[in-house]
Amino acid sequence: MARKCPLTTTAAGYLLGILDPQEHAEYDRHAGMCAPCRREIEELAPVVRLLKAIKADHAASNGQAGWSAPRDV
Ligand SMILES: [Zn+2]
Repeated sequence: MARKCPLTTTAAGYLLGILDPQEHAEYDRHAGMCAPCRREIEELAPVVRLLKAIKADHAASNGQAGWSAPRDV
């Protein structure tokens, strides 16, 4: 039974680039030594690439940078 590293949840943020530079560097180093995290990164990479493509497409068609949640007026 494979033990899962609690830090695998950080993989998504790492790939999305939303971590602090320090967190990013730490996780980068951690993933180098942690097989579950490396696997998580490999599994999430295509999904994150897809999300980024959708986001870029959305921003382009919207004429706005970033994506903001719909706001109630
Ligand atoms: Zn790990």
